[in-house]
This record gives sequence, structure tokens and C-alpha cells, in this order.
Amino acid sequence: MFGWLSKPPRSSPEATNNQYIRKGEEHEKKSASGKITRFLKPILIFFKLRIDIISVLPELLESSFAHSILKRAKEKKLLEIFVHPLRNWAVNEYGQVDDYQYGGGAGMVMMCEPLANAIESLKKERDYDEIIFMSPDGELLNQPMANTLSMKENLMIISGHYKGIDERIREHYITMEISIGDYVLSGGELPAAVLTDAIGRLLPGVLNDETSALFDSFQDNLLAPPVYTRPADFRGWKVPDILLSGDPAKIAEWRYEASLRKTKEKRPGLQKD
Ligand code: SAH
Repeated sequence: MFGWLSKPPRSSPEATNNQYIRKGEEHEKKSASGKITRFLKPILIFFKLRIDIISVLPELLESSFAHSILKRAKEKKLLEIFVHPLRNWAVNEYGQVDDYQYGGGAGMVMMCEPLANAIESLKKERDYDEIIFMSPDGELLNQPMANTLSMKENLMIISGHYKGIDERIREHYITMEISIGDYVLSGGELPAAVLTDAIGRLLPGVLNDETSALFDSFQDNLLAPPVYTRPADFRGWKVPDILLSGDPAKIAEWRYEASLRKTKEKRPGLQKD
């Protein structure tokens, strides 16, 4: 009965079975003998997440959210994404948001004032669970982090540009710094889009099959098993027989074994975590 509720897609420590059931509505059932049993009728809980992104290049973000799964999440009103052009808070009529760095050296730095004003004006409207700065020196994004963030209600993401943002903004406003990998991109827009996608697809109700996020790579420290589609025989390359057997238990077992094997081969470190 509790099917997907027993293992919610957002399997962070907070997303326990209890939490979901507790949110069910309480009902009373009267049996033929007159005995009253109280029970919790589970309801599908649709969390809503709002993400505000501050960026100097909002155009770079727009198309990332206009298609596929994130588009569906927005249409279903499970996810709201607002992109705020930092130039709205520019220090002058020329739209200035960056300046030369103290101490010399090539490359501009994003100034304190526009960022501080942007962050403060958003904070006046609502409380943010996290104010995230996308940065190559941040904590590496991984699935548990995406799971945890998908449990939140309001996130703010700051995309850096040029040489980055003035350190004082990091010290005084930022609550979390996230990197999408050990390489440097020219701006924080693509990283912000990556983070938003990783989080957004985990919101219950976003993916058609509620359980499908559970079987993706990195959930439970396993890589996903191989997948196949028609035809069963392509140029003599055959789909494993078991997948055609129609036996769900055997198929589940095969997939688990295949996941384990793949993880041991490709990412042995995952199993040790
Ligand atoms: N000088 C900085 C890099 C600046 S790159 C350094 O060496 O650390 C400009 C901006 O792009 C950064 O402020 C950040 O917002 C974004 N960015 C670049 N690479 C990133 C990565 N791997 N993960 C997250 N954000 C990144």
C-alpha cells in the first residue's frame, strides 16, 4: 500500500517513511462488528521547490529549463525557477557589476554591492534554506547532496563570472559552495543549470514513474544496470534472455547483480563509501 512511500525518491536522512506517513490524513474505519480502527490514509505529497538564480547571463539559463523534465516540473507547479539578472542591481547606468581586482592581475571580479543588494532584496521576500555559490573550489556535487537539497523549499543560487565574486560576499551571505567538477568553466550558469536539473528531477511527481529516480546511478552507491529496448535481436546482438522472461523477481535480481558488477568494475570506490 505504501509502495513508493516506503522508499521515497528523495532518500535523504530526512525523507523517512514515517515522515511521509505522518503527513497522511487520519481516518476512522468502522468494521461490521462496530470496532473502530483509526488509520492514516496516505496522500501523495507534492513538495514544491522554489529556486532563485542570480546571474549576469540569464539567457544562458533559459533554454535549460524550457524542455523535458524540468519543463514538466514547472508545468506541474512542483518547481518554480526565477532567474534574476544581476544587472538589475548594477551600481551605475552602464550596468556595471564587476571591477578590477585589488592587488592587480588579469580578470575582473564581481563587486560586492550589486550582489549584496540582490541577495538582500530576495531575502526580504522569503527565508532561504541555502544560499549557494557555484564555485570550482566548492564541495563536489553528488547524488546525496542533490537528494538533500530536493527536500528544501527555497534555494538561492549565485552564478559567478569573470574571476569570481568578491570574497566578502562568500563570507557574509553564502551558506553552501558547490562545484560540479574539478575543471573551470567560464561562468556559473551551466553549473547552476546542472544543479537545478539534478535537484528538480527528484521532486516526487516530476518523473512519470515515481520509483525511477531510485534506480538511477549513485542512489544506494550503485551504478544503474544496463538497459535495452526493441528489437530483442539487433544484428545478432541479443538482449539478455532474463529481461524477456516476464519474471519480475528474476529481473530485479539480475538488475541488482548487474549493478553490483558494473559498480565493482567502473567505480569500486562507491561501494566503500
Ligand atoms: N578564478 C576562479 C574561477 C572563476 S570561473 C577559480 O580559479 O577558482 C567563473 C565562475 O564560473 C565561478 O565564479 C563559478 O561561479 C563558475 N564555475 C566555474 N567552474 C565551475 C565549477 N567547476 N563548478 C561550479 N562553478 C564553476
